Order: sequence, then C-alpha cells, then structure tokens
Amino acid sequence: PAWEKQVRISAAPRRPNGLSVLVTGAAGFVGSHCSLALKKRGDGVLGLDNFNSYYDVSLKRSRQSLLNRHRVFIVEADINDAKLLAKLFDIAPLSHVLHLAAQAGVRYALQNPLSYIQSNIAGFVSLLETCKSVNPQPRIVWASSSSVYGLNSKTPFSEHDTTDQPASLYAATKKSGEEIAHTYNHIYGLSLTALRFFTVYGPWGRPDMAYYFFTKDILNGKDITVYKTSDGEEVARDFTFIDDVVKGCLGALDTAEKSTGSGGRKRGPAQLRVYNLGNTAPVTVGRLVGILEELLGVKAKKRVVKMPRNGDVPFTHANVSLAYRDFGYKPTTDLGSGLKKFVKWYVGYYGVQSRAKRGSDQSAEE
Ligand code: NAD
Repeated sequence: PAWEKQVRISAAPRRPNGLSVLVTGAAGFVGSHCSLALKKRGDGVLGLDNFNSYYDVSLKRSRQSLLNRHRVFIVEADINDAKLLAKLFDIAPLSHVLHLAAQAGVRYALQNPLSYIQSNIAGFVSLLETCKSVNPQPRIVWASSSSVYGLNSKTPFSEHDTTDQPASLYAATKKSGEEIAHTYNHIYGLSLTALRFFTVYGPWGRPDMAYYFFTKDILNGKDITVYKTSDGEEVARDFTFIDDVVKGCLGALDTAEKSTGSGGRKRGPAQLRVYNLGNTAPVTVGRLVGILEELLGVKAKKRVVKMPRNGDVPFTHANVSLAYRDFGYKPTTDLGSGLKKFVKWYVGYYGVQSRAKRGSDQSAEE
C-alpha cells in the first residue's frame, strides 16, 4: 500500500550512519520541531500522532503540513495500537524512538484524569512492549517533566533529588513512566533516556500554556490572571526555549547507548539515564507578562490572585550539569529573545497585527 511506501521513504536516513527515528507526538509542539531538526541534518524520521483534540487540531494539522513539505510523514495512530507499532518496526529500519506523545498539561487532569493514564502510562507500556520485542531493540529517548520534582523546595533541581511529592496527576504519570522504564531496562535491557523538560516555549507552541494564551488575551484586551503563592511570592518558571530543547533531544539520541537485550550481559542502571533540560534561569510570571507587554506594545489587564491547588507548582529551576557533561547541553536563549521569536511567529500565524507593529507602520506613514 501507498502508506507503507511513505513510511519507508520517510524513515530512511539520507546521510551515512544517520539515525532512523520514530517520533511519537510528531504533530505536537516539541515533536514537530525535533522532527524537522532531525530531517534537516539527514536522519530518517517517521512521525506518529493521534491528532487528539486536547487543543486546536488545526494547529497540529498546520505543523503536519510543514513536516510534509520537508518529507516527514506522520502516521495517524494511537500509541496504544501495539499491532500497528509492531508493523512500523517491520516496515522501517527504525534505530531510535523519540517518544513525545503524551497527555500534557497539569490542569486538564482535573477534568479528564483518565486521559493521562491512557496516554502516559498505558500508551507508554504499549510502546515499550513493542520495542522490547524488536530485533535489534531501538534506543528510546522520551519526555518526562520537571513536574516530577513536585513540591520539592530544594533548588535548583538535580536529577538525584527526591520526586516523592507529585502535585498533579500529570506529574504522577510522568514519575510512573520513569519507574516503568526502570523495570523495562532491568528485565529486557532496553536503552532508555528520560528528559525532564522545563516549561518549553516558542514558535508553534502549545495554546494551553500561559505565555501563549497571555499573548492572545493581551492582544484581545482581556484580563489575565497571574498567581502568587500563599506567602505572597510570585510564581516563577525556568522557561526553556524550544531550540535549546531540540538540541538536548538530539544530543540525547546521539549518545544513547545500545540496548543489550534480555540476554545481554551488560544490563541495568547504565542504560537508564535521566536528564534535566532547562534554562537554569527562572523568571517570574509577572516579568513574563512585562516582556510580552513590551513586545506587543499593549498594557496587560492583570489580575493577581492567590494560587489555587490546581496541580501547578510555585517554582522550577533546573540544574543541567549532567546533560552538559554527557552531551554538551547548554541553553543559549534568554526569555526576552525567545519570546520575541514566539511573538513574531504568533502575529504571522494568526495574521494579527500587534499594536507595536501598527504604531511603527503609522509613524512610518506620517
Ligand atoms: P503536545 O501536546 O503539543 O504534543 C503531544 C502530541 O502527542 C500531540 O500532538 C498529541 O496529539 C499526541 N498524542 C497525545 N496522546 C497520544 C496518543 N495516545 N497516541 C498518539 N499521539 C498522542 O505537547 P508538547 O508540549 O509538544 O510535549 C511533548 C512532550 O513533552 C510530552 O510528553 C509532554 O508531557 C512533555 N513535556 C512538555 C513540556 C512543555 O513545556 N511543552 C514540559 C514538560 C514535559
């Protein structure tokens, strides 16, 4: 069938010793960026996504069109479909999996808790079950999250810090994923690398994230809500620009160790790796709003309220020395420059004109 041919072509590397990577969640924010970056350097990329309606599906379709133009094919399927996954490994010589498909977001768990279990736990197991039986086993790099640090108050967060206080069901499923991975590594010798992303932002981002809907609401003159902790402190995040995260993902794929298989002698912790991918420079949400106001040329209508117990944590801050040591990860984009790129994309994508732009156009005419 035609789709099998597309799978083969898309997954074939174009450079000597190139990787052949299955990217799950390829129509998502991080997945689309990583797929493009891999393709551009000559690796084979096969995408997979179920195009669920957690947020605007047309944004996922636009990312898909972009990937299609760069000859990345996305199979429309759920990671729980183990039969289909096995078939993909049959058809294409996939050497690596970059697993980014998940039910993301912290607050949506209050409305739809089961979707987190289905994608982040059952779906992850379905993928691992498939990978353990493939010969040779693919190396797996997957997205965990900074949320696993939960209400941990020791900062910056290091990989060996405790993760026993998840503040949301999302965090609990990400932490469970890490534990499940440990088991698959131990029993089957699967090569597994967890990347704990810290609040990733940038062009083609996720509409459910604050920087994105703040931009929309500020442009539309709507109120925005900024949280303070019960001690009156401002909520702060280690906002990490997408290009930095992409470099981290590719670095982790390039340095992932070979699987040993269940018969292998070298088994155990050496192949289960966990890394923070953050920016190492937390910024308050108040400051984030300030930067957006400057970039958009519009004053925000800000409401500051006490943080409800909705699963959010008050503060995140990554120590990334382990990722630096093992694959040279070094974030290079500060929040101001990253948001500038996001706003430029946002204005272009939605065809809106920010007041700043209108203002400068006007003064140019005058
Ligand atoms: P995203 O929602 O844009 O991307 C996830 C994609 O996976 C979506 O396109 C969705 O349709 C797809 N998907 C979801 N469930 C699926 C399933 N069962 N089968 C097949 N496809 C499915 O999110 P993102 O921001 O790109 O996040 C990518 C990964 O990084 C996720 O695992 C997320 O939990 C993790 N993460 C993201 C951030 C961040 O700030 N963006 C922070 C920490 C962790």
